[in-house]
Amino acid sequence: MHANLASHRPLIARVEPLTRTRAVRGPFDYRLRPEQGEVSVGTVLRVPFGRQTTLGVVLALATESALAPERLSEPDAVLPPGVPPDLVELAGWIAEQYCSTPARALSLVLPPGATGRGNRSRPTRPPRPVLVASLTEAGAAALHGAERLTDGQRAALGALERDGQALAGALGTATLRRLDARGLVELSPLGRSRSSRPSVVAVGRRFDGIPELTSDQRVALEAVLAAIGAGDPGDRRFLLHGVTGSGKTEVYLQAVQATLAAGRGAIVLVPEIALTPQTVGRFQARFGDIVAVLHSGLSQRERHDEWLRLRTGEARVCVGPRSAVFAPLADVGLIVVDEEHDGSYKHEGDPRYDARAVAQRRSEQHGAVLLAGSATPRPESVVTLTRLRLADRIDGRPLPPVELLDMRGVHHSLHPRTRMALADVRAAGTKAIVLLNRRGWSNFLSCRGCGHVWMCPNCEVALVLHRAQGFLACHHCGHRRRAPTRCEDCGSVAVARHGAGTESLEQELRDAFGDELPVFRLDADAAAGKGRLAQTLARFEAAPAGVLVGTQMVAKGHDFADVALGVVLDADQTLRFPDFRAEERTFALVTQLAGRVGRGEAGGRVLVQTLAPDARSIALAARHDADGFLAVELRCREALEYPPYGTLIRIVCASPDAADALDVATRLHGLIAPSGATVLGPAPLFRLRGRSRSQLVIKCRDRLRTLRAVGAAVDACAADVVRRGVSVSVDPDPQ
Ligand code: ADP
Ligand code: ZN
Ligand code: ZN
Repeated sequence: MHANLASHRPLIARVEPLTRTRAVRGPFDYRLRPEQGEVSVGTVLRVPFGRQTTLGVVLALATESALAPERLSEPDAVLPPGVPPDLVELAGWIAEQYCSTPARALSLVLPPGATGRGNRSRPTRPPRPVLVASLTEAGAAALHGAERLTDGQRAALGALERDGQALAGALGTATLRRLDARGLVELSPLGRSRSSRPSVVAVGRRFDGIPELTSDQRVALEAVLAAIGAGDPGDRRFLLHGVTGSGKTEVYLQAVQATLAAGRGAIVLVPEIALTPQTVGRFQARFGDIVAVLHSGLSQRERHDEWLRLRTGEARVCVGPRSAVFAPLADVGLIVVDEEHDGSYKHEGDPRYDARAVAQRRSEQHGAVLLAGSATPRPESVVTLTRLRLADRIDGRPLPPVELLDMRGVHHSLHPRTRMALADVRAAGTKAIVLLNRRGWSNFLSCRGCGHVWMCPNCEVALVLHRAQGFLACHHCGHRRRAPTRCEDCGSVAVARHGAGTESLEQELRDAFGDELPVFRLDADAAAGKGRLAQTLARFEAAPAGVLVGTQMVAKGHDFADVALGVVLDADQTLRFPDFRAEERTFALVTQLAGRVGRGEAGGRVLVQTLAPDARSIALAARHDADGFLAVELRCREALEYPPYGTLIRIVCASPDAADALDVATRLHGLIAPSGATVLGPAPLFRLRGRSRSQLVIKCRDRLRTLRAVGAAVDACAADVVRRGVSVSVDPDPQ
């Protein structure tokens, strides 16, 4: 009877409306009607809100509201599938840790495609499959025989031979369909593949099977396995610090295997799918259909389908970039963060979350093991995680010797020794990688007559020449204009080009080394268009000889067998940014590039051109001395209270009028300083996208307390900010 009585009481849902405005903060109560179906924490509702309707997420259920029942609105609709409750909780944590709002944080964990308009409550339509390609025996024969193949076809087959399987989108679906028609590859839908064998062929030093672990790998894996089910979260966090090529991925694979065997799921975070097709391929090859891959090449629809496969438990491993940390797995036993030093784990929009920190939080929620890995780990991770070491490369090959080339007084982009080394590569018919972390043809143009420099009209930076396309571009706001033939101020036709970028370097190498050493370029310009990155990487891998030229993309975790020479140009470029991570970045860049070199029998070497051969990060990277670097770096950080010894929070105020930005920053300074944190600034930043900027940097030991003070200060300025057209962005843990 009592139960019956209770059921007459209205059931209340506490709902966070998903609006972008900071001023509106829920939750708000809504009255549920029984016939509206199952509603629980995480259910997505369409609710009336003011004079509009909006999506909202149920944060809690209640039997009573502070408002009388007749004053409560009812939801318009219930939109399955909802968000798992643990992700609702995680969103709350993110909102607090990154000084955002619950609504913005919740938008990170919604099912893909859930938007206010045109809801998609149609889970019955059959999902369109994601295609996976694998090489057939005929395909392998064609690759090594006399069969006629285009370059693109050869590259695709080569990539499949290397990886066993690949997502069709990554290699070009059209190309693969033609190869499928000829019987050279097999295309099958992911999750419903015709065969779930790991890989069709294995050649060279790759293998199908699961390799026997080295003793270092075994020790590391055993530590991880012993932690599955450990009570204290502190005992379940690991840093796999292994030199490049030491077999970290194999440890991840076997840890995932053990997690699955224990009946739990795993998340594998990778920096960027397009740049790490090999890693993704290895997970798919090992685990087949139960792997869901989230990558930028997926349509909204495909993304939704992968999300559902994870939500329903059909897929139990999720591989993807930072957003994969929100994979809706019911029981996460392991979270892997591959290449944990990579900057792409930080999200640039609000909430400015760091997927590495979110991974740690999520692993605590689930009692999961956190396994981060890198050859160049962050000082933060070395201090906060239990370190496991892989000291040697798998086949016992040494790391390549690194030679520093002092560029002071050398007025050429290539040092004479670099030229000689490249000539040797050409003579030997092997491969080289040349890294120059700057896109375009030249850094800036100036007039020889009057000194005019071509600047961006919106930003205080020089425009970069992109010669092939014939335009100047701003690398900050994307502004473009036609390349000038004469000076707009004095009419002189003597326009000087300064500095070199990957585009001019490509040309220079072509001119110097001719056809015998094909040049492949990898950067954001050359890679425009889906699948192009993977294609360039596959073409370079398949070519018998060549030079890969590009930005830091060339130094990511690629595993090429036969690179005999690595060259870093302008290695101190990253040091010239006024940033406490400058040394760390420079060390990682040189070390990671060296990591691509000498993985084959012939060995290899590395040349580092620099104006600062004595810089600590460069000198230590040349000696492969990660421990030495970390020791010094940690001492500096401790002395300056930088992470991990303190928290940094960056606040940037921007407005069309410099005075407005400065005023708001000054006011924020005054409001935050009493909290006890150190507040540095306001300091001017260069004008960006037509807005002047003023920056505060806050250093503190008590993170949450300071974040609350910052949040309160921003709220206190809100009206002023809106009135004056100032934008305020708060970035905890800036990169
Ligand atoms: P890392 O991720 O540390 O750079 P990888 O996992 O890419 O290194 O391993 C380098 C190469 O060694 C890969 O080709 C991998 O297949 C191979 N490998 C890894 N572990 C073993 C092992 N125990 N025995 C033989 N080969 C291995
Ligand atoms: Zn001029
Ligand atoms: Zn600009």
